[in-house]
Amino acid sequence: MSENLSPQLEKYLPPPVLALIIISGQEAAQLGQELYMVGGVVRDLFLGRANFDYDLVVEGNAIDLARKLAKNSRAKLTVHTRFGTSKLIYPEFSLDLATARSEIYSRPGALPTVKPGNLKDDLIRRDFSINAMALHLNPQRFGELIDLYQGRNDLEHQLIRILHPKSFIDDATRILRAIRYEQRLGFKLEAETEKLLRHDMSMLNTISGDRIRHELELILKEYEPERALRRAEALGVLSQLNPSLKGNGLLAKTFVAARQIGKRTSLSTLYLCLLIYNLNEKENEEFTSHLNFSKNSVQAMRQTLQLKAQLHNLESPGLKPSDVYRLLHGYSALAIQANALASESPIAHQYLNLYLNKLRYVKPLLNGEDLKKMGIPPGPNIGEILSILLKTRLDGEVRTRKDEEKLVNHLR
Ligand code: ATP
Ligand code: MG
Repeated sequence: MSENLSPQLEKYLPPPVLALIIISGQEAAQLGQELYMVGGVVRDLFLGRANFDYDLVVEGNAIDLARKLAKNSRAKLTVHTRFGTSKLIYPEFSLDLATARSEIYSRPGALPTVKPGNLKDDLIRRDFSINAMALHLNPQRFGELIDLYQGRNDLEHQLIRILHPKSFIDDATRILRAIRYEQRLGFKLEAETEKLLRHDMSMLNTISGDRIRHELELILKEYEPERALRRAEALGVLSQLNPSLKGNGLLAKTFVAARQIGKRTSLSTLYLCLLIYNLNEKENEEFTSHLNFSKNSVQAMRQTLQLKAQLHNLESPGLKPSDVYRLLHGYSALAIQANALASESPIAHQYLNLYLNKLRYVKPLLNGEDLKKMGIPPGPNIGEILSILLKTRLDGEVRTRKDEEKLVNHLR
């Protein structure tokens, strides 16, 4: 008798999702199809972890089923006929429906050739046993576990295991995925899997930069990405991506500190700036162009190293605030933050933080309009006076609006 997870489904799925998958199972049965919940959400049901990616696989035609479901609800439907996949988007969650498929890898690292298949085909193409379990959703078998590759047992023993010996050769992004799940869950690579991972590491060279970047970005979205990076270094994976990348204890320290200051929205980019901190500019250019990072990220990473190369200017004690401002205001906040976190010079550190916490927000009380009203003719003059006002304010030489007006009258 196979295990039945109806109790967990009822306990962990939000009620509207539970209602929807019950209906989906009924509709599938009416169409003569078999419907399953698969992948990470099944794994996380066992672990009692939240997961809002609901992946369903249909033996039959996922698009027919999705259309039928969309008709009876307020869901928005998107369809990819070529892949036999569709997505139902509800206000609070979304549901991916895919036609079961089999995959053939023509050569290492290439995207696979895909054709329709059954559930077994669809499960064996997956990355790890713990991600390759399915739950039957048709009414007669609702909640029944289908576990063809010992996923349940590996969860029990906390192991990350590939499904066949050629797995990393077919798709070397799985090397990065294995490390990510291992570190997220506090599991271990199963012995044979670790052996193959070490053996096939160079297959990362067969993967496009875009796909590697995607996996690296997934790592950086983890709760404590430094864990996976440290492990990647220890295994020699990080140096496959770039020989100078380091994931050691120092990086871990800066990552922890980054989480305390970083804005959630730009935290991943700040992590990237810290990751490349020990690269030279040439190595960084190679790394960023190979992985094809966004323009924003490239700029932040590049500026991080440009600023690092200029930090000696911040080494002298007794700089005036306006000097610090002049040296730093051309750099993006991320580049300055990265240097504040990673620089080993205590003096520079102090100035970088002074800029980040205070100086960058300083503005004169008078603006261009005020100056015009005071009779200063429009033109470059205005900009010059404003920058003098800023400088004197930074250095604490003016305080009130009156002080600024006096200075303007003196300058004109
Ligand atoms: P997460 O919690 O990280 O989102 P997930 O299991 O939902 O975990 P996804 O990246 O959303 O992971 O992928 C969904 C499923 O697709 C996985 O569970 C896995 O079965 C499969 N999968 C994803 N990437 C690969 C890959 N490179 N090779 C094989 N299977 C993959
Ligand atoms: Mg997912």
